[in-house]
Amino acid sequence: MRSTMQDFPLTLTSIMRFGVDVCGDSEVVTWTGDGSRRRSYAELGERAARLAGALRALGVDGDQRVATFMWNNAEHLEAYLAVPCMGAVLHTLNIRLFADQLVYIANHAEDQIVIVDGSLIPLLAPILPQLKTVRHVLVVGEADTAPLADAGKELHSYEDLLAAAPATFDWPELDERSAAAMCYTSGTTGNPKGVVYSHRSAYLHSMSICSANAMGISATDRVLPVVPMFHANSWGLPYGALMAGASLVMPDRHLQAEPLVRLIEAERPTVAGAVPTIWADVLRHVKENGADLSSLRIVPCGGSAVPESLMRGFDEIGVRIVHAWGMTETSPVASMAHPPAGAEGEDAWRARISQGRVLSGLEMRVVGDEDKVLPSDGEAVGEIEIRGPWITGSYYKDEDPEKFHDGWLRTGDVGTVTPDGFLNLSDRAKDVIKSGGEWISSVELENHLMAHPDVLEAAVVGVPDDRWQERPLATVVVREGAAVTARQLKEFLTGLIPKWQLPERWSFIEAVPKTSVGKFDKKVLRRQYAEGELDVQRVD
Ligand code: ADP
Repeated sequence: MRSTMQDFPLTLTSIMRFGVDVCGDSEVVTWTGDGSRRRSYAELGERAARLAGALRALGVDGDQRVATFMWNNAEHLEAYLAVPCMGAVLHTLNIRLFADQLVYIANHAEDQIVIVDGSLIPLLAPILPQLKTVRHVLVVGEADTAPLADAGKELHSYEDLLAAAPATFDWPELDERSAAAMCYTSGTTGNPKGVVYSHRSAYLHSMSICSANAMGISATDRVLPVVPMFHANSWGLPYGALMAGASLVMPDRHLQAEPLVRLIEAERPTVAGAVPTIWADVLRHVKENGADLSSLRIVPCGGSAVPESLMRGFDEIGVRIVHAWGMTETSPVASMAHPPAGAEGEDAWRARISQGRVLSGLEMRVVGDEDKVLPSDGEAVGEIEIRGPWITGSYYKDEDPEKFHDGWLRTGDVGTVTPDGFLNLSDRAKDVIKSGGEWISSVELENHLMAHPDVLEAAVVGVPDDRWQERPLATVVVREGAAVTARQLKEFLTGLIPKWQLPERWSFIEAVPKTSVGKFDKKVLRRQYAEGELDVQRVD
């Protein structure tokens, strides 16, 4: 029997139409540091149409790539709408990548146009001459464009182009399976790999994050995406907000705790997404200076494991962190940690500190040695594999068969899945510490260490050991004004974890090195250790 339903495509154009036509009074707010710029969604819709017209006039056609080199702001949101909805492909460049990686990515994607925030010109200028396929650069805001002048590209003022373009655009009918946007992984090993999202995958991901098992976003929300729009689509928050008709509050380049807190107090967002390091800074700031964060109803947090101490600290100030897990390859949100019905007390906490329950539409499984599928019994540890309509099935122009297994994505994350779908990660495959054939979870050690009142940050890596092949090295950043010894920390861990897992190598450092997206850079720590750059104490 054939269904009698209309075959209507799931596209970002349909998300845009609801946002800007039906919810035209909602707004996008951009923080300027001492105030806000505001634009209604109705205006946003007109400006997106003007941008699409301007890009078409510059020759953007078919599925050509239009890159952005921008902070989270209203203009970036305009590009998020105009580029995919005109049929082209939005390529968000991560401004924090190394120059050679940026050059590789832009050339690999064959970007034709770059839209750049004026404040980021100094970062773009040195690499622009090497971006071979880029023809035009659109500069947002008032800025000195002289550093871009000799790159052999045509420079334009974004505002002048919009002013000259028609106020409406004839949005094409798009195939829901066509490419809408692309994002490269940060490439911890080898070159970054491109993930290409379709209109359909972005649509379904948006519906999922708006659902109540995820963030439950509605038209009454005000959504603050702190996580950059150049990193895994800002966790899909911009499209999710438009789909729900929720307003957006954009931090632009003001990502430190103090301006973020002022922004939250002034604009009263209800949903705010950022990685744990940012929330740890915010919590410290609030504890020292006080602040009103009571507008926040839910704080989705992930990208790396959220320490339990951070969640409890936020609970104390009346703000609920909900742990989420995902990757660039999974659009990115794949699970969120709401306790199941009836769970209370420690049971509820066990669920909250897990990486969350798989979202409807996706499937997860645990895979062990020789690709054997293990039971999802909460006990069997293996690599997590995932599949579903917003999970990548390949990389752009890059055969990488090891990353896929019978139609599933190998995540590179190691852990367990419970029978009721809760994921508990113990490590990334490459960070797992194998001591005498047994696995030690660096994440668990870090979580316990960061719960110590004198510890600001702690990262644990495996280092070579004659007897056990590998042993944990604990690197610790002590809070300002606090004093704690390695022996005291080791005693603190005793009883919390099995004795054989206690680190005997300790190093006190100024700060944990971070990657371009703010995660602990364990590669750097391992290298520093190997090259003897760390001052290591032994506590046996
Ligand atoms: P990259 O791999 O380039 O760092 P991603 O942002 O795509 O960029 O990173 C995805 C990875 O981040 C996951 O595979 C996982 O290792 C880690 N991650 C994300 N969320 C969590 C979380 N809640 N807990 C632990 N690790 C997480």
